[in-house]
Amino acid sequence: MKRLLTLFCLLNALVARADSVILVIGDGMGFEAMKRAQDGGGPWSAFPYFTAIETTNPFCGVPDSASTATAIATGIFTENGMLAVTPDGAVLRTVAEEARDRGLRVGMFTNDEITGATPAAFYAHQPSRRAMPEIAVDLLRSGFSLFMGGGRAWFETDKTRAAGYAWRTDIAAPLSLPTVVLLWNHEMPGLMRDPATGRLLPLVQAAVEALEKGPGDYFIMVENGLIDAAGHNNDAAGIEAETRNLGETVGWLLERVQRKPGMALLVTADHETGGFDCLTGAFQTKGHTTRPVALLSTRPLPVSLSDQTDLHRFLKELLFAPK
Ligand SMILES: [Zn+2]
Repeated sequence: MKRLLTLFCLLNALVARADSVILVIGDGMGFEAMKRAQDGGGPWSAFPYFTAIETTNPFCGVPDSASTATAIATGIFTENGMLAVTPDGAVLRTVAEEARDRGLRVGMFTNDEITGATPAAFYAHQPSRRAMPEIAVDLLRSGFSLFMGGGRAWFETDKTRAAGYAWRTDIAAPLSLPTVVLLWNHEMPGLMRDPATGRLLPLVQAAVEALEKGPGDYFIMVENGLIDAAGHNNDAAGIEAETRNLGETVGWLLERVQRKPGMALLVTADHETGGFDCLTGAFQTKGHTTRPVALLSTRPLPVSLSDQTDLHRFLKELLFAPK
């Protein structure tokens, strides 16, 4: 019996390496938002592995996107507002930087500004998430293959090209790599304000198809930053629309990953926003909450996975474990 138990634990501890990994983050997307945006059980219940993870850390009572994305990207807790640095200023290497150094192509996608806290925690090292010009400099030095999102206001065409990136402001033609695609001056208008251009799917399709060209593996982080914005506004219809928007993209990604068993797809949130109740449409706050969030996976989850630093270790095993 003891031997069986040891074997069981050992098998659970071993994570098979994936070829490419897609990490989807719904900013501010709590369980209640996911329930509200569920159509006939999908796409969330189509994932074979599922758990809840904590979003708080020893430095902050109520988390923000900078500290939570830093925990996911680096496996280390830091204070709110900080991007991949510790409170005493140490620079933390991110899983995306390690993927780049091991020869993977790395892509960051968001409908928020590309200098926003969630993507920035994967490539920038700044004590303040508000230091947009400095974060933009870090982006151009990152060596990642693809950035797509808003935040054109923080970049200059010449400096972007001088850093070796193609400069694009649309996806009308196929994308070459490396490239920075800046679709909006700040964040995307979103589905509620502009249903014609607010869909994530065509943009994520263009990003994934660009990364899949050529040999080799990739790591991409896909964020919908507008669920959080709707939560801050206590806008139940906005939460539902943007969570469905992300769900449409997740459905497409899941089908693609199911056809390519070497790939792994993870879906999570950085934190919950609003204290939303999906049945009544009521809110508890205009800010973030300490509620746990979902983690959905196409790969078996490690047994001991309770917070976002554990998610970081899982990501590293998926990307870098020996084949
Ligand atoms: Zn927020």
